[in-house]
Amino acid sequence: MTKAYAAAAPDARLTPFEIERRDVRPQDVQIEILYCGVCHSDLHMARDEWGGTIYPVVPGHEIVGRVTAVGNKVTKFRAGDSAGVGCLVDSCRECKNCRKGLEQYCKAGSVLTYNGRDRISGDITYGGYSRQVVVHEDFVLRISDKQPLAEVAPLLCAGITTYSPLRHWNIGKGHKLGVIGLGGLGHMALKLGASFGAEVTMLSTSPAKEADARRLGAHKFALTRDPAQMKKLTGYFDYIIDTVSAEHDYNLYIRLLDTNGVMICVGAPPTPAQVAVFGLLGGRRSLAGSGIGGIPETQEMLDYCAERGITSDIELIDIASINEAYTRMLKSDVRYRFVIDMASLA
Ligand SMILES: [Zn+2]
Ligand SMILES: [Zn+2]
Repeated sequence: MTKAYAAAAPDARLTPFEIERRDVRPQDVQIEILYCGVCHSDLHMARDEWGGTIYPVVPGHEIVGRVTAVGNKVTKFRAGDSAGVGCLVDSCRECKNCRKGLEQYCKAGSVLTYNGRDRISGDITYGGYSRQVVVHEDFVLRISDKQPLAEVAPLLCAGITTYSPLRHWNIGKGHKLGVIGLGGLGHMALKLGASFGAEVTMLSTSPAKEADARRLGAHKFALTRDPAQMKKLTGYFDYIIDTVSAEHDYNLYIRLLDTNGVMICVGAPPTPAQVAVFGLLGGRRSLAGSGIGGIPETQEMLDYCAERGITSDIELIDIASINEAYTRMLKSDVRYRFVIDMASLA
């Protein structure tokens, strides 16, 4: 049995729980989990805020650890290697999206790291709030040992979720990029956006975040509660990345886009948004979405970050503090990602 932490119901605290990991199949990699980041999706799923949560749920999809065993057909990993697992652990491999390395958009439905269903056994998948995990090698990422592993863990979701749209829209030099929300995703969007050469503006409700935003890569800072500052930015941005996963007014930001500007949503509020379409028509603006990233692009992102020395700013916690961490995350009281030290799950 493998030690884990699980929520048993939408209103339940996470508590110790034992799970059974599958035996290693020929192409499987068994990983001892050293660190797991705490993503806002974990909280949404633990509390069934998106619907469809199967209990008990073991969250966690920012997993970094050490390979402890491999199946006899595994070619990419050996025992002792550092390895990572993100939001996906399998997909059909055959649809047009999988063939393009866009496994996150698998037409048959990709298998999520937790609350998914194993394609062979039909068992529910359990995430990284646990001591070990077994994953097909095609969905295991290589992790550089040059960087602190705890700080690399959040790249597996927060990193790729912001990297993928930046790459897809080729955002970089000559572009004005706005970032909404300075949390786990937002702080990675600042770091990555600035590293690609864009002029980055932090759009925040909190003046207390200006110093940090600038340290993380923002060239400019705008207080969204100040109508005068917002008016000055009307029609200003080529791209906006919206990382907020709580309810908020999209129209306020759409009008900040220049002609042909694109606002890309990467945070997912539980309730549908009201969008005034006139804001899109005037200026041929687009409201777009982007979900995590495929496996090849996730590896590309990890390699890019290792080369540039980019990691996440984290607060390392013991697993016993996970419920308190959720409470603090809801208050945006984290700089900027909680990461669980899995050695604390004894
Ligand atoms: Zn996530
Ligand atoms: Zn597919």
